[in-house]
Amino acid sequence: MDDPPEVAAPEVTIVGAGLVGCLLACFLARRGHAVTVYERRPDPREENAGRSRSINLAISERGIDALRRVGLDETVLKAALPMPGRMMHAPDGTLSFQPYSADGRRAINSISRSALNRALLDAVGGFPGVRLRFRHRLTTLDPDTGRMEFDTPGGPVTAVAPVIIGADGAGSAVRARLQHRPGFDLHQEYLDYGYKELSIPARDGDFALDPGALHIWPRGRSMMIALPNPDRSFTCTLFWPERELAELDTPAKVERAFTENYPDARALIPDLAAQYALNPVGHLVTVRCEPWTVLGRAAVVSLIGDAAHAIVPFYGQGANCGFEDCAELDRCLAETGDDYAAALLLYESRRKVNTDTIARLALDNFVEMRDKVASRAFLARKRAEHALERILPGRYVSRYELVSFSTVPYAEVERRVARQRRWTAAAALVVTGVSAWAGVILRNRVRAAVTGPEPGSKPGPAAKSGLAAKWGPGRGRAGTGRRPRAGRW
Ligand SMILES: Cc1cc2nc3c(=O)[nH]c(=O)nc-3n(C[C@H](O)[C@H](O)[C@H](O)COP(=O)(O)OP(=O)(O)OC[C@H]3O[C@@H](n4cnc5c(N)ncnc54)[C@H](O)[C@@H]3O)c2cc1C
Repeated sequence: MDDPPEVAAPEVTIVGAGLVGCLLACFLARRGHAVTVYERRPDPREENAGRSRSINLAISERGIDALRRVGLDETVLKAALPMPGRMMHAPDGTLSFQPYSADGRRAINSISRSALNRALLDAVGGFPGVRLRFRHRLTTLDPDTGRMEFDTPGGPVTAVAPVIIGADGAGSAVRARLQHRPGFDLHQEYLDYGYKELSIPARDGDFALDPGALHIWPRGRSMMIALPNPDRSFTCTLFWPERELAELDTPAKVERAFTENYPDARALIPDLAAQYALNPVGHLVTVRCEPWTVLGRAAVVSLIGDAAHAIVPFYGQGANCGFEDCAELDRCLAETGDDYAAALLLYESRRKVNTDTIARLALDNFVEMRDKVASRAFLARKRAEHALERILPGRYVSRYELVSFSTVPYAEVERRVARQRRWTAAAALVVTGVSAWAGVILRNRVRAAVTGPEPGSKPGPAAKSGLAAKWGPGRGRAGTGRRPRAGRW
């Protein structure tokens, strides 16, 4: 018998070597596929790559699960610090800690985005089937021919590929090319808030704040958060309405704003005005688009990560969700026998409803983080939720825990939370009804005991036990002369 014809490994191009592009390259390389990754920036691991913005991310179960599938979870978590709760900073400097989970043990993990990107690039470099092309900025792409053009320091470069996946972030150039095709829907929603990174240095060689928490300064219209770094510094992100951020245009105004809003943090940032002037303002956008996958005549083009569904950062899920995309696409490739067109369509059909859900939750959580977390009602609700979780382990799980500490699909999380709310409301109604009922029975028995038996009725236990003597005429409601409605209960 002849040997079966050798099937060439599928050729895939990924545009963007950010977090999601790198992780996807690892997944595909593990499947034995030939992958070329084009990245517009220089290699961030090179000495002269320039300083990139040092956002800190909270990586939680969804991201860790995807990393685990390619054996990278331990490497990544080594550079991360666990945060089992949030530490609220009141304007007067009072601190209060709120654990994220009912048992207080589950944690989200603080990691610098650039450190994570470098670790993933190192991992990608370990796969012989992956080629990394830095300083290649995609400028144009045609799904009908599979032809791409890149700007490089040496001039324009052309490449052709049968599978092209845009992992090029919220401002995706791949998406911009798909947008010109009929039937492509794009909805971008900018938040009128900007963000600015600031750094709290180590103090006397130690952390200036508790490193076991995500610190939040909720101030209603604005807020600041701070996440710990292994070098004992904290990376702060300040979220303010864009117009008000722009108005802080002199060192004196910055000083005043911080002294008024974040006095305890102000004391920990000696070069506040200099940092504020140096660091740019970032913008926050939610991107919803459809379809993610376009079947051209000669190529299939698709989107992943922020390119497909950028979300605001207030649930700490953007990268986690993008990593989950990679794991799902890997599953779809396995299910379709590495048929990229079928797998990418399947991946989109499974992920879109979930990414739409987390986009909405992330927007809602902004109000919670900047405002509600400081309120008594919020704290009481959290305590009640944690109590329910302890009483009904595995049966009642809060939305935060389902989002951050599980891989239950986001849309299913919402269905489950709605179900839990329905039955806790029903249970609360029953408990209220039963206590009211018990209260009325008790009251009636007390009255009966005080005023003596109804004509023809049997003496109640209170009367038998001598309660009537204790509650004599004129004491309590029984003494008002009103009598229980006979025979009601
Ligand atoms: C302030 C802030 C806080 C956040 N906190 C969290 C958090 O706590 N937890 C969490 O999970 N997520 C968080 N996120 C979200 C997270 O950073 C993103 O979801 C994640 O970085 C998306 O990864 P990506 O690879 O899809 O896109 P990106 O990280 O944006 O990477 C895209 C890559 O594509 C490259 N590129 C762009 N255009 C081109 C082109 N034309 N040609 C070639 N290459 C190109 C870019 O240079 C970049 O390297 C936060 C985001 C912000 C802004």
